[in-house]
Amino acid sequence: MESTEPLRYAEFVTTAAEWRQLPTGGAPEIAFAGRSNAGKSSAINALARRKGLAFASKTPGRTQHINFFRLRSGALLADLPGYGYAEVPVSTRRHWQQFLARYLAERAPLVGLVLIMDARHPMTALDQRTLEWILPGRLPIHVLLAKSDKLNRAEQQRTLDRVRRALPEYGAALHIGAQLFSATTQQGLAEAEGVIASWLVGPSTAAPQKKGPGVKGSDPGPKNALRSA
Ligand code: GDP
Repeated sequence: MESTEPLRYAEFVTTAAEWRQLPTGGAPEIAFAGRSNAGKSSAINALARRKGLAFASKTPGRTQHINFFRLRSGALLADLPGYGYAEVPVSTRRHWQQFLARYLAERAPLVGLVLIMDARHPMTALDQRTLEWILPGRLPIHVLLAKSDKLNRAEQQRTLDRVRRALPEYGAALHIGAQLFSATTQQGLAEAEGVIASWLVGPSTAAPQKKGPGVKGSDPGPKNALRSA
């Protein structure tokens, strides 16, 4: 059931720490981003039905890389480095912030971003910065409010309402949404799969093919974003 479980059978393919190491070939790509410890690896594993899959990203030497997984459809899942580790040296943090900003602004095959937030602490400053790095209207964005099992029903609803109210600020004409998600109880699994599958259906749902500034490599956009960061 590839179309309704788009991440099932995902396999690790490669890792990239530099722009030139990114996979070529143009297969559609879905990115997963989030603050360290937000629950990103658990979410990917739950969606892939593979317990240890995304924890490969936590092995030494891979934590500052984008790790790529190939889906059965041939599309790629890009697991972006978890941000927000206070103990990461400033130079390292700068490097991956720039890499991440450029990736989100310029990566041509990208068809959508899944942003994982801890449902107990959503929309942190770093989450907001990540949203700002995406040029308005460039990509559909879907927020998973992870670990939702740690909130009671009323808290879940309050959090969801709050995040949904905040998101339109980030101005996507395309889909920009949020949902509750728990890798532990599998709350929201099918809903997340539905959104991801819709991004992979075909070119009509892909990112607009207008050339963003810097597709040729000289984009002032993300650098500006970094300057104000
Ligand atoms: P990452 O750093 O964003 O990849 O986060 P992890 O997936 O490694 O999760 C961080 C911590 O949160 C781990 O201790 C997980 O066991 C826990 N966790 C992740 N997802 C859930 C969830 O849905 N429910 C609960 N209760 N804990 C979770």
